[in-house]
Amino acid sequence: MTETITRRTALQYGGAALAGITLGELGRLHFAHVDEQAGMVRAATTERWAMSVCRECPAACGIHVRVVNGTPVKIDGNPKCPIARGRLCAKGQASVEALLDPDRLVGPAKRVGARGEGRWQPITWEAATALLVEQLHARGGRPGETLAVAAEERGPVADAWSAFWSAAGAQVAWTPAATASQLRSRFEAITGVAADPHFDVEHASFVLSAGAPLAETWLSPLWSQRSYGRFRRGNARSRGRLVQLDDRRSMTARKADEWIVVDTDRQPALVYGLMGVLLRESRIDPAASQGLAASLAEFERGVVARFTPDEVARLTGVPVVTILRLARDLIATPQPLVIVAADAEPELIDAVMSLNGLIGAFDRPGGVLAALPAIESAAPPGAAAGLGTPANIKPQLVALRDASALRSLSMMNETRAALKTAGFVVSFSPFLDEAAGAADLLMPAHTSLESWHAVVPAPAVPGQAIAIAAPVVAPRLDTQDLMAVLKTTATKAGGNLPAACPWESTQDLVSATLGRLATAHRGGPYATSYESDWIQQLERGGWWTSPVASRDDFPNAVLAAGGWADPFFEPGQIRRSLKDLGGPRFAPLPAAEQVVAAGAKRTAQFPLALRAFTPAVVNLLGSPNQPALFELLGQPEGAPWRRWVELNPETARDAGLEAGATVRITSEHGSVDASMVLVDGMSRDAVALSFVPSVPNGGRWAQMVGGDVRGLWPAGVDPSNVVAVRVSRA
Ligand code: SF4
Repeated sequence: MTETITRRTALQYGGAALAGITLGELGRLHFAHVDEQAGMVRAATTERWAMSVCRECPAACGIHVRVVNGTPVKIDGNPKCPIARGRLCAKGQASVEALLDPDRLVGPAKRVGARGEGRWQPITWEAATALLVEQLHARGGRPGETLAVAAEERGPVADAWSAFWSAAGAQVAWTPAATASQLRSRFEAITGVAADPHFDVEHASFVLSAGAPLAETWLSPLWSQRSYGRFRRGNARSRGRLVQLDDRRSMTARKADEWIVVDTDRQPALVYGLMGVLLRESRIDPAASQGLAASLAEFERGVVARFTPDEVARLTGVPVVTILRLARDLIATPQPLVIVAADAEPELIDAVMSLNGLIGAFDRPGGVLAALPAIESAAPPGAAAGLGTPANIKPQLVALRDASALRSLSMMNETRAALKTAGFVVSFSPFLDEAAGAADLLMPAHTSLESWHAVVPAPAVPGQAIAIAAPVVAPRLDTQDLMAVLKTTATKAGGNLPAACPWESTQDLVSATLGRLATAHRGGPYATSYESDWIQQLERGGWWTSPVASRDDFPNAVLAAGGWADPFFEPGQIRRSLKDLGGPRFAPLPAAEQVVAAGAKRTAQFPLALRAFTPAVVNLLGSPNQPALFELLGQPEGAPWRRWVELNPETARDAGLEAGATVRITSEHGSVDASMVLVDGMSRDAVALSFVPSVPNGGRWAQMVGGDVRGLWPAGVDPSNVVAVRVSRA
């Protein structure tokens, strides 16, 4: 059905629903009734397919949406998308629920109770814009007093958001996602190349993973899973071997040939220990050792002296014989590669990059390559990738584009602290999520399937790409296009804002982007693997042209394919840089003891170290109210809709817990209950707890996942850190 709900109807239903600003059950019945009527009068079902972009994470995979009688009913992967090649993860498939969410916001509203109390008054868009302009005049403009936070994104829309808020005097911060951008600064420090690292897992012969969730949500998740599949499947060569260093039995640890249990904070010591073995036994890559000559000597002395196998075994609990075997196995294969979790501590990233240097992994197939800079991003080099954080800022005005800053484990406390003291908070999220819950003014933007898109996918495949799409369906509720809202606000606010906001709408911005790409004379619309390979061959041979026949056809061809890509990529940047530098700039070595962080202060009362992890099906960005994802939550452990806690069987026995028990996890600051999963081989002192954000006002399904694990951490400490706890029967 193509029926949109009118503003009047929305307010009518919203007035009877939760807090007066969502559709609620009456609205849902209205849609169902209209769907039913439409079905009865139609002689035949109309069906079409539309290309779009998944916006549930920064990977920006292409999607192919089946629309029946005007309603999206199924989402598949876009086979031409160079990242996913037709695949789609659970979050992508569930994203249709965001559009159909009966508890999403129906239109703009302002807070009437205390902040966070959840009492709202629906208002018109004119009134909402006037209120935002008033607050920009009253509180904005002074350096450090405005903060704009959005999930990590690159490309024209992100640039336009950034330009608007920069002109308003805001600090623009991006919520770091687990993408290559997070590794960029350490990669640049060691290699001298200002680019995101690209790990060629597919062509590696041996992958040593320092906590990287390779088979789950690493970097660009579907690219990562595709690479993992090809790496393990092998071809003419033998099947690739995977060794996983992990403090818990993650999905990747289960799939690995070998899982070595090492606490995350001790992994740098192990990686330096492996380097010590290679250096002591003169096993480093001969080609690499020539290039390293100038920078290696001091580094070698330090590593060999400080990270002896005995010392590393003492620090990590990994036996000496395992350390020796792992180092020798790694260098014995033709194309070894070491990978690392994107949110790892800098010491671990430094250690991993240095080890890649020693095994000759830079700039070779199955190694580490330097990704090309993102096309169609006006951000200065490094700005889009160097994700800002709102540290040490006490803003008067905060703009939240989505809930990411409040849902991400690694950034919540900074943002929450800023929100507490902020004079005014505006949220553009279409959902009644954490962002909306913390706001004074709600200006809900369209959901993804109702929006235009121009977004550069998180770095994954070699070459360059930009996902571009038109809306799949017309907006159903009284929401607005984000760029149009910024344009209206800029026009009314005056000052330097109108100049910073030249686009009338996101459609206008997308048209301009397509116009620029049409004259690039390179790459072309998203294409099959075969066609992409052909374009790459042509460009290698100096044949730079677009495969689209005419410039007039170009926009429609790109929109029909779901994006534009140029597959051309030639490695060599890292080796050239290292040659100029005389070898990698190895990071100063930490003392062996220093690489082991102090961790949580465990006591007799709280004797276990708790670390939270985010399951792959938890959506950190979109709707908090997706039953399909809750259904998958805990499925591997047989407990859907539940968070779970992982314990060593002996730890559970000591606490008097039998299999199947519900466990209460208690810290000095709070407690939560979770289903227990026993994991052989896990550290006896450790507890791993799945993080599922609790959003009490997020909707009927979000309400069912009660109790927030974030309450276990002291105020001011991010839940990405370890906290001391005890476990008992609930
Ligand atoms: S990996 Fe990210 S962008 Fe791709 S389908 Fe999954 S959630 Fe969407």
